[in-house]
Amino acid sequence: MVTTVALVRGYEVVIGLETHAQLSTRSKAFSGADTAFGAPANTQACAVDLALPGTLPVLNRAAVERAIRFGLAVGAKVAPQSIFARKNYFYPDLPKGYQISQYETPVVQGGSVAFLLGGQRRTVQLTRAHLEEDAGKSLHEDYHGRTGIDLNRAGTPLLEIVTEPDMRSSAEAVEYARALHALVVWLGICDGNMQEGSFRCDANVSVRKPGGPLGTRREIKNLNSFRFMQQAIDFEVDWQIDRVEDGLRIEQATVLFDPDSGETRAMRSKEDAQDYRYFPDPDLPPLVIAAEWIDRVKAEMPELPAAMAARFQRDDGLSAEDAELMTQSVAFARYYEAARDACRQPKLVANWLMGDISRRLNAAALTIESCPIAPNELGELISRLSSGAISRPQARQLFEHLWPENITVGLSGVEASVSPGRVSAAIELLGLQQMTDSDALEAIVDKVLAANPKSIDEFKAGKDKAFNALVGQVMKATQGKAHPGQVNELLRRKLGGG
Ligand code: ADP
Ligand code: MG
Repeated sequence: MVTTVALVRGYEVVIGLETHAQLSTRSKAFSGADTAFGAPANTQACAVDLALPGTLPVLNRAAVERAIRFGLAVGAKVAPQSIFARKNYFYPDLPKGYQISQYETPVVQGGSVAFLLGGQRRTVQLTRAHLEEDAGKSLHEDYHGRTGIDLNRAGTPLLEIVTEPDMRSSAEAVEYARALHALVVWLGICDGNMQEGSFRCDANVSVRKPGGPLGTRREIKNLNSFRFMQQAIDFEVDWQIDRVEDGLRIEQATVLFDPDSGETRAMRSKEDAQDYRYFPDPDLPPLVIAAEWIDRVKAEMPELPAAMAARFQRDDGLSAEDAELMTQSVAFARYYEAARDACRQPKLVANWLMGDISRRLNAAALTIESCPIAPNELGELISRLSSGAISRPQARQLFEHLWPENITVGLSGVEASVSPGRVSAAIELLGLQQMTDSDALEAIVDKVLAANPKSIDEFKAGKDKAFNALVGQVMKATQGKAHPGQVNELLRRKLGGG
């Protein structure tokens, strides 16, 4: 397959992402300590998390199960046997001096993630996904110029998901990250909360002349928003091209993105694997995953987004693009299915969801979970519109009325707005009855025709625009209450066909 790669100033951009997804287990990867976010500092780190002498780690089965789920969902090999290794480094937030991770033999090997980029299907190959534990956190604020260490996060289970250097633009990296984010949330293995750090990405970026060997990469650490990811990569690409154009070499390095300046800055020169002195953790036996365990996890898997999208195409007649959009998250798919069931008009539901609803949600920085119009209400609106009980402009007016003016996050949308009869009450209140009296409508049509002889002449001279203008005049005269189809028919009859 030939894909054209958009170049930046004549250079090809190469990106590989490493993503840390915090696994949504109640207890830690190797201890029984709680993983809940936001507890007072150092109240959730136990002796095992600190590796105090005499303690031994015990692997959390729920963390492994989540890794298996992920492996199955991306079509990877789930290793029958994988090894935990110690990654040794010293940092204030890692007082025990090593992180338990997987190195040579990770639990998930290969696989891929597919998504749409500007309407085109793209697939990014995964190298691996391995289980590891998180470190603690350094806190620089509120300590009177000193730095505090909070070890609550130490030992929290992570799945590190590593891609091949397959992405060719910041936009593609962002779309991959969005798809991966949606997938781990969909699978119920990660809460996806990016503010709380449950999903963070490192972007490895290099540039090269098309067809040349891979350039040296720099790794941008800890990107916790899609917008920052795009900004950071764009800045980094420009910076690297400037250097190469100046005849300078790119040194492999780890860099940080500063959202305030929009720049990336070198943090340290990049360590090599040998700096970490990896070796198998002598306290942990190999992780053995029997085929029966994989089968059990498979049996409990939810329907995956790709399968659901295929079903929407097959059973609901949606286009590939609409089906993909309807399965962008579990919540979105649930909303779509509920609204569709309420009106049996899949295409119209998809149109409203992608149009007015998404636009209004985005403007208010809300997600579908807090949509102030419940799925059954949207379904009802669509039913009334398609049966001709209300006109298109009336449907819009109804939509505006149902959407509260000062909507704030916090409002737990769908539940909050489910009050039975809200749609009928609004129709009553707004006086949105479709005009059904055809004599009255005919009288209005006659009046409009009498007042617009010029439009009639233009129409007879073959100008379609003139006809639409007449329809518009009638709709206006009826305050949008006429059925456009009926108006069309009446006008055509009176004008003698078209
Ligand atoms: P490490 O674990 O030391 O960061 P890896 O070799 O595992 O290094 O690679 C990490 C990530 O960097 C992977 O996602 C990989 O695809 C990506 N990568 C490797 N080489 C390049 C390159 N030349 N340009 C961009 N990304 C790269
Ligand atoms: Mg790395």
